[in-house]
Amino acid sequence: MKQFAQHYIDGARRPIRAGESIRVYDSATEAPLADVSLGTAGDVAEAVAAAARAQPGWQALGAAGRAPYLRALADVLEDCAAELANEISREVGMPLKLSRRIQVDAPIAAWRATAALADTFAFVRTIGNSRVTLAPVGAVAAITPWNYPLHQITAKVAPALLAGCTVVLKPSELAPAVTERMMAACEQTKLPPGVLNLVLGGAAVGEALVSHPDIQMVSFTGSTTVGRKVAAQAAGDMKRVSMELGGKSASVVLPGADLSRAVKATVNSCFLNSGQTCSATTRLIVPREDYPQCRQLLAEAAAAMKLGDPADGETRIGPLLSAHQRQRVQAHIAEAEQAGFDRIAGGVDVPVPATGYFVAPTIYGNVAPDSRLANEEVFGPVLAVLCYDSVDEAITLANSTRYGLAASVWAGDDGAGEVVANGLRAGQVDVNGARFNPAAPFGGFGMSGVGREGGVYGLEEFLEPRSVQLP
Ligand code: NAD
Repeated sequence: MKQFAQHYIDGARRPIRAGESIRVYDSATEAPLADVSLGTAGDVAEAVAAAARAQPGWQALGAAGRAPYLRALADVLEDCAAELANEISREVGMPLKLSRRIQVDAPIAAWRATAALADTFAFVRTIGNSRVTLAPVGAVAAITPWNYPLHQITAKVAPALLAGCTVVLKPSELAPAVTERMMAACEQTKLPPGVLNLVLGGAAVGEALVSHPDIQMVSFTGSTTVGRKVAAQAAGDMKRVSMELGGKSASVVLPGADLSRAVKATVNSCFLNSGQTCSATTRLIVPREDYPQCRQLLAEAAAAMKLGDPADGETRIGPLLSAHQRQRVQAHIAEAEQAGFDRIAGGVDVPVPATGYFVAPTIYGNVAPDSRLANEEVFGPVLAVLCYDSVDEAITLANSTRYGLAASVWAGDDGAGEVVANGLRAGQVDVNGARFNPAAPFGGFGMSGVGREGGVYGLEEFLEPRSVQLP
């Protein structure tokens, strides 16, 4: 069993002396995987001091001087990509063959794409008689969740570093493997001391970091519940915040759309990573007259989702992260069952492997728009189907939750789909199955967050404009 008992501060590993630790388990076998020590506010203070000391020197390097470090980090991560994909699969439960591509290769590509912005991004702009310089915000606190651990670290740390910020990263204590890989990458690339510091811990360490006066910005990805607290705390001294929070994304099927394609893609999105995906389309909104056919297609799609060991090449859905997550998701299903919705697939009484934190892919139809299932993020493999009688009602339903992270629109013609997409209060909308674009801004309306990650928008989050008026 692994022990994660070190921070990485000021270019060196530091043993964590405080006594508290948590244990994480293999999501498929329930065998203990690792003990993770939790740091203290004192450790955070050292990490922040290191980041603050390192910031002017890092800024002075210029973007062209900083970009090679990002590329070098990508190279080191690439060298251990197979091992890291395996570790993430065991922790989080994503099937290994998806894990390599989505959890590891995609973020490595993002490190490189961010580095490439050094060549094209205008850090200095002229507006009339003003020279506007985009300056790094300063020392940044980055706090990340467990579901796509390397991706979420990359989406903040890569642009923050390119911008000239230094970072104290507190990754999720529940998916620790990536933390060790990042520490090794900092060492191997000889990243200057203090530029990227990693502290292990949970809520207490996160709070100490957010409230530290020498942190100028908090970039947080996680639940809306915690994000709210973090934003409130950061507001105390007017720190800049970037919040990537939960979602309850809609897949809107318009009359005349290819129902079969829409159902397949919605099911794939909803059940990806066992539903542990912030942007999963977890509400399918269909014309009422299509419901019988849709029901049939959904039942078939769910039956084709093979549940099992993430290491098995045939597996489409692995387990959830932990017993705690399984229990939470099962409570949502029990409530839907009690509400009497039309169970199309799954439920808590269908057989799943006896060992591992499995929940069968579950679909309920005719879900009431005001129910918890239609409004709250489940973060597990549960799809809610809602019916509508007019396109206006479909748009109203899609916009009716407090979230606004992502959405899909399915239409007989792409132009009509785009019109509806523009009526949705969501940060990322794809039309007729269009592919994900990592350079496009990603983030949410409403309670899904504040700010954007990805491409130039993600970089601008870490830059503060200064305009100098010239005579
Ligand atoms: P979480 O909110 O429980 O934890 C996120 C991080 O915050 C962890 O590192 C945790 O240790 C830390 N934390 C907990 N309490 C804190 C506090 N009081 N102060 C500071 N930090 C604190 O979320 P999670 O369970 O790790 O992740 C799942 C959630 O993340 C889901 O809601 C999901 O939708 C969301 N998410 C959003 C995006 C996005 O881009 N919008 C991406 C991935 C996940």
